[in-house]
Amino acid sequence: MSHAPTHQDWLNRAAQVHITTGLFIDGHSVDALAGETFECINPATGTVLAQMAKGQAADIDRAVASCRAAWNDGRWARQAPRARAQVLLKWADLVETHSAELALLETLDMGKPISDMFNIDLPEVLKTIRYFAECIDKIDGAVTSTDASALHTITHEPLGVVGAITPWNYPMLMAVWKLAPILTAGNCVVLKPAEQAPLTCTRLAQLFVDAGGPPGVFNVVNGMGAEAGKALALHMDVEKITFTGSTAVGKLLLGYAGQSNMKRIALETGGKSPQIFMPDLYDFDAAVDRAVGGIFDNAGQVCNAGSRLLVHRSLHDRFVERFVERTAALYSPGDPLDPATTMGPLVSQTQRSNVNARIARALEQGAHQVLPALGAGLNAAGAYLAPTLFTQVRQDMAIVQEETFGPVASVQAFDTAQEAIALANDSVYGLAASVWTSDLQSAHRMGAALQAGVIWVNCFGDGDMTQPFGGYKQSGNSRDKHKDSLLSYLQTKSTWINLA
Ligand code: NAD
Repeated sequence: MSHAPTHQDWLNRAAQVHITTGLFIDGHSVDALAGETFECINPATGTVLAQMAKGQAADIDRAVASCRAAWNDGRWARQAPRARAQVLLKWADLVETHSAELALLETLDMGKPISDMFNIDLPEVLKTIRYFAECIDKIDGAVTSTDASALHTITHEPLGVVGAITPWNYPMLMAVWKLAPILTAGNCVVLKPAEQAPLTCTRLAQLFVDAGGPPGVFNVVNGMGAEAGKALALHMDVEKITFTGSTAVGKLLLGYAGQSNMKRIALETGGKSPQIFMPDLYDFDAAVDRAVGGIFDNAGQVCNAGSRLLVHRSLHDRFVERFVERTAALYSPGDPLDPATTMGPLVSQTQRSNVNARIARALEQGAHQVLPALGAGLNAAGAYLAPTLFTQVRQDMAIVQEETFGPVASVQAFDTAQEAIALANDSVYGLAASVWTSDLQSAHRMGAALQAGVIWVNCFGDGDMTQPFGGYKQSGNSRDKHKDSLLSYLQTKSTWINLA
């Protein structure tokens, strides 16, 4: 096909898509030991895409044992760093070669617009793998300044077997934020993808082996969180769990570590990000457009979604008016296989019900709904939800305090910078926050006062691989991206040599 694929082209491809349904262990696609399966559903149509093998504790045991064997014989960790980098770079090349297949699988699986796959997810996946592969020999140890009677070295060694448990909102990208540094560091990994969107992760593992990655180094067990995920987190032979998902499950994982082998638990969890719009902001129209994108991209299913819009009272009415106008122009829900679509369905009917319940609660608590929650003319079997905006919200309302994880924003007016900071920080979450102002001093002061791991000034969602991504407070305890995340999959060894 020489032209860019059209909606019809994607529909044709979707009709013939090949889905790998097995678990991926030791370089092979295998059935679950108990032979059980679960349905993988296309949220845009409600149709069943595949019956996926449903891994349970016995499958986790098998996958961990396979990783342990690979770790013990050093088939990955003991290869020269440059040799491992070659495999990782080849892996990225194969992901790129298979872009169309991976984009289609992800769109069918979680409803993400196919254009987002090419504009956001796939480029970020490639950057992540290539960035960490390039870091492979840039983490040095040290010789410390000891007395001449001793030589003391500090070296960094991989942990062994790591478990990665990932969410459905950016299924491939969230997995790769973990996988790339885990594998670069020389570890073996069992990945437990989200059961709502498992299709691309198995393909990633196969492509790793196709790129020359030794079998057994990267295994995938699909299944339910409370079964396969819990078994992985409780496993006595896993050195670390790295997790992206809800705060509630993050807390359970901390408990599982305590009940088992005290494994390390790295958490990237929920968010309720505030965006503060000061009266002196530099470009009003651009700021409103980012506010709209900051909450409606990926249908609001983004951990750092800018769901709390704090707008100076002098701008409030104009802001709401422009926000409504721009939302209509930029985000109308549609078939995610249409390259013109900017907003697909939510990941599942369950998620739509969750978000609808939060909308109903906001109304009950007295919030004013400015944008509708009904998607006119959409496939009724799909999990669609139109962009939603509330005004007249109070700080104690659930719509302000609780994560919605859907296309729902609220606007609050404030009078002073101090008040804006107090509203912004009054949250159990602290993932991201932004300030829009043309005053450099106030940008610095407010950035310092905001309790969040990621601060954006006059932008939202911007960044590259050099930006550590993760939260303060109950948004998590670790960071993805940046080469420091590579260090988090290594452990420090001190060797003291007596020269006397
Ligand atoms: P979730 O916590 O329900 O599930 C995440 C993963 O955990 C899935 O693989 C699931 O199967 C597994 N899981 C569920 N219960 C488990 C258990 N008892 N033991 C072990 N594993 C279990 O979250 P979700 O609904 O898939 O994702 C949405 C959440 O993820 C939101 O809260 C969002 O903010 C968060 N998120 C955070 C980031 C970040 O970087 N901070 C990025 C994306 C998503």
